[in-house]
Amino acid sequence: MSNKIIRLENLHKSYVMGKNSLHVLKGIDMNIEEGEMVAIMGSSGSGKSTLLNILGILDNYDEGAYYLNDILIRKMSEKKAAQFRNKYIGFIFQSFNLISFKTALENVALPLYYQNVNRKKRNAIALEYLDRMGLKEWAHHLPSEMSGGQKQRIAIARALISKPKIILADEPTGALDTQTSYEVMDILHEVNESGITVIIVTHETDIADRTQRIIRLRDGLIESGESVNTGAETSAVAG
Ligand code: ADP
Ligand code: MG
Repeated sequence: MSNKIIRLENLHKSYVMGKNSLHVLKGIDMNIEEGEMVAIMGSSGSGKSTLLNILGILDNYDEGAYYLNDILIRKMSEKKAAQFRNKYIGFIFQSFNLISFKTALENVALPLYYQNVNRKKRNAIALEYLDRMGLKEWAHHLPSEMSGGQKQRIAIARALISKPKIILADEPTGALDTQTSYEVMDILHEVNESGITVIIVTHETDIADRTQRIIRLRDGLIESGESVNTGAETSAVAG
């Protein structure tokens, strides 16, 4: 048996707005093994981002259980949540979320700033990561001077710099053309081959097809692909 880095048991999440409550996740069971590369698919509004935000400890859930590396993740202080995120998780977003007035180098180095790494050291490490993304020459450029694909590679370098065990990507190719999307997927494959678990939310079939497993969300539940060992679809792919 391999290691389950993520385990969800009967996970529920509702958004409460005044008297109204929207039940988004209605009992999610899901396992992800360490080193997997999976896609989470589902129509707009099906709860993909909600699920990813819970996995990334950016949001709480109401019921059930979330185990990250066998540790129960339950309501905790923001400080504690930040420590877990720092240790385990790197995020990538559709809109890159770079800081517009900081250079590529400064953006990549930012997580190390929060870890109190001194400036000289963090810049040297950030330059290595930029180099790995083929962007060394762009170190002192601002995001506004760069293409969408370059910006996403900076965001990937920033996500990798704290040596996460898991990369969570919410529609990482949603703002990119097809060619650039595939380049970003190639990089995410390399990231995965280095041993990092990669979870990609997407509504694009051709992007999802470039992962090992597709988990489908529908009406607040997982329709298929909830575990590597179950589901006709997964075994069909494996066989
Ligand atoms: P997806 O990423 O699959 O498009 P989301 O997880 O963003 O879906 O949203 C699922 C549902 O929850 C949608 O109906 C959305 O409008 C609602 N929702 C998302 N975030 C919030 C929030 N912070 N407050 C209230 N409702 C929300
Ligand atoms: Mg979303």
